[in-house]
Amino acid sequence: MKNSWLIVVLSGLHGLLFAQHPVDSIKESDAAAIIEILAADAMKGRANGSPEILKTGIFIGDRFKQAGLSPMPGQASFYLPFTLPAYNPSAVTDMLEWNGEIISPGRFMYFPSQPGNHLPKELKDFTVIHQDTCFYNTMLSGYKYATTPLLIWTSEMQPDNENYFPEWINLPNGGLATDILLVYATHPPDTVTLTGLPQYYNSLGYNIVGMLPGKSKPAEVIIFSAHYDHMGTTGFGRKDTIMNGANDDASGTTAVLMLADYFAKRNDNERTIIFCAFAGEELGLIGSEHFINHLVTENVVAVVNIEMIGISQLGKNNVFITGYNYSDLPALLEKNLKRFGIKVRGEPNQNKNLFERSDNFPFAKKGIPAHTVMSSDDDEPCYHKPCDEIKRINIKHMTQVIRSIAFATESLINSSETPGRKRYERPKLNFNRD
Ligand SMILES: [Zn+2]
Repeated sequence: MKNSWLIVVLSGLHGLLFAQHPVDSIKESDAAAIIEILAADAMKGRANGSPEILKTGIFIGDRFKQAGLSPMPGQASFYLPFTLPAYNPSAVTDMLEWNGEIISPGRFMYFPSQPGNHLPKELKDFTVIHQDTCFYNTMLSGYKYATTPLLIWTSEMQPDNENYFPEWINLPNGGLATDILLVYATHPPDTVTLTGLPQYYNSLGYNIVGMLPGKSKPAEVIIFSAHYDHMGTTGFGRKDTIMNGANDDASGTTAVLMLADYFAKRNDNERTIIFCAFAGEELGLIGSEHFINHLVTENVVAVVNIEMIGISQLGKNNVFITGYNYSDLPALLEKNLKRFGIKVRGEPNQNKNLFERSDNFPFAKKGIPAHTVMSSDDDEPCYHKPCDEIKRINIKHMTQVIRSIAFATESLINSSETPGRKRYERPKLNFNRD
């Protein structure tokens, strides 16, 4: 009962501060609905390379779309593929048969609006458009709002370039609304089969990334991130083999989705906000390592990565921030979290080096203030076990942490505060706090 007074007082305060979209608009019921989908048995533990992680990914991409986010500049969609380890990236790709002949890969390019099992496609699946002019950027820009899959073909040669679809092709900002297949061919199509080779699609992971361009400082970027992959299934002869990863890290992914929704509705971010749901984290942060290549790292002001906030290991309304002393960001967040009634504790065990073990780390190595907000760690009894399930998640706590992150990052978003940058050095493991 004591706490309900606190909530009433805080609600009133937020109502004054953010009359349009108070952080209270982040609802427990919405958070519960999202995490139930992410951690459902149907997602089979969201293993990298599985069909179920793609299903999860498409759910995330759809939420970004509903929220009104844009893809990263130059990207066709929210889905940024990277090659999973143990696959040879150049070995396989899509295959296109045109009037009974295989078209060489350099002469067609396929831009799916969504990854996954959308292939094979045939001539009847496309609206066919013949274009006299050369390909590239103008063609894609011209059709970005089309709603049915398009096959755009030309017999016009691109001058002085053997490869008709160079890798540096610039896609229109804002993404494509439909699938577009670009083809260079000498004759019109009578039969077409576009086949997605399963080896190719199983070899890809997808980071799902959307953004809200900044109103007055678009070149300054704040990133919210979490990983949506997990460990898949385990062992034989057990009753429950699905490692649902509800806490790790469906909880953080829920936070990213809700923050995207929240800041999109506020529509007043002075800085650009990028929302990342990473894959490949459980394989060694390879998704976030890949994503770094899409960024001008000097433009990134802060990265708030979110992990395992579904369980309050250190007590109610307590969180910790990994690598507290490695930049000014944790102290800045702590000051603001405190105003919201959230206590920032020291890491439970410095020797675990949690700072290097989640998706904040690839950013931190580049000198970006990048840390992970957590409220439980691998001492949690169901960590990486099938019992990391939705029924153990404290929705109330999780939602309150999400609200507090929205509140505490307000000064970063509106550009009134900027954390100092530090060159990352390996942590000293005797560090003590609290
Ligand atoms: Zn995790």
